[in-house]
Amino acid sequence: MNIHEYQAKAVLKEYGAPVAEGVAIFSADEAAAAARKLPGPLWVVKSQIHAGGRGKGKFKELPADAKGGVRLSFSLEDVVKNAREMLGHTLVTAQTGPAGKVVNRLYIEDGADIERELYLSILVDRSVGRPAFVVSTEGGMDIEAVAEHTPEKIVTVAIDPDTGVTEADAARLCDALELEGAARADGMTLFPILYKAFMEKDMSLLEINPLIVMKDGRLRVLDAKVSFDGNALFRHPEIVALRDITEEDEKEIEASKYDLAYVALDGNIGCMVNGAGLAMATMDIIKLYGAEPANFLDVGGGASKEKVTAAFKIITSDPNVKGILVNIFGGIMRCDVIAEGVLAAVREVGLQVPLVVRLEGTNVELGKKIIAESGLNVIAADDLDDAAKKIVAAVKGAA
Ligand code: ADP
Ligand code: MG
Repeated sequence: MNIHEYQAKAVLKEYGAPVAEGVAIFSADEAAAAARKLPGPLWVVKSQIHAGGRGKGKFKELPADAKGGVRLSFSLEDVVKNAREMLGHTLVTAQTGPAGKVVNRLYIEDGADIERELYLSILVDRSVGRPAFVVSTEGGMDIEAVAEHTPEKIVTVAIDPDTGVTEADAARLCDALELEGAARADGMTLFPILYKAFMEKDMSLLEINPLIVMKDGRLRVLDAKVSFDGNALFRHPEIVALRDITEEDEKEIEASKYDLAYVALDGNIGCMVNGAGLAMATMDIIKLYGAEPANFLDVGGGASKEKVTAAFKIITSDPNVKGILVNIFGGIMRCDVIAEGVLAAVREVGLQVPLVVRLEGTNVELGKKIIAESGLNVIAADDLDDAAKKIVAAVKGAA
């Protein structure tokens, strides 16, 4: 689960991390009052969406040369003008995909005097099985380019969960970030604080880009992106309360109600599969034959008729879906039950696009018979290869 920047900063502030003063607003009418609570003379108006790259983002509704989703403002009038231009408009960034995200909230923040922009994140490093800090002196809006062209400028420091951040770890991070004087002293206290927040709140990612050294030599958290481990949310009702479902994919919310593992993707072939491994293989083979999956969907091992119907509805509600591939391996789950479920779903929601069904496993003959005798326009397939070829051909033929 993700939260907004201003919420992440509030969480980090509780732990004692240095963040700027700021006020979140939901309408442009609140902008002037919010800005008046801050000292000035520089205010920063920041779009709050669950995606990064806002500074370099573009608003769909505004001319191409208009400013992005993070705007420095030098007067109260400027703050209000920027708030009006941003709220309710669609911001497209490198992380939103081409559809962009509508900005429904803004964060008006005190402007900082920036000397240097650094990069810092904490994540779980699977290669060493530990939480790790990833830092770079080259923070700011071009970190992706740094990772690609000068990866040696990115330093990883893994932390032993038994000891937490030791003095030596913190010193290594300070060295990597070339922190001196007051900034170094700030770093020595900040790194353990961030680690504590990461661990206690069950974060899966804490990214601060940029962490800045200010003109006065002090450190400040200037941006914050936090993701939480969904499996640990039951321990953190205060975090769940920060959820903003307007930022989440409606189909994914619906899928979570039925306990379906669903992820929306950009392609046009809807997939209904049981088992995550089979779902991945199905997506791979669709790509192999030159098409793109519209989703990842694992209905699970014990899929009931209701689950299959719900899954079908979610897939068909996606206007990008031009064909559906059902690929089920009947183990505990019998193929005839799946076949009944698919037919019930098709009868209920209708079928506007080609549907290929591949069944294998327990009661496969009966399952196939049920589908063949249904009178519905379902294309049967013998194996995964055959199924993928057939759905790709059907979708390409229809296009
Ligand atoms: P994003 O990463 O989504 O583009 P950031 O919060 O990192 O958004 O802001 C982009 C850039 O805007 C930062 O790298 C920094 O240069 C500038 N910026 C952001 N917040 C402030 C602030 N409070 N004061 C001064 N500059 C800021
Ligand atoms: Mg940033």
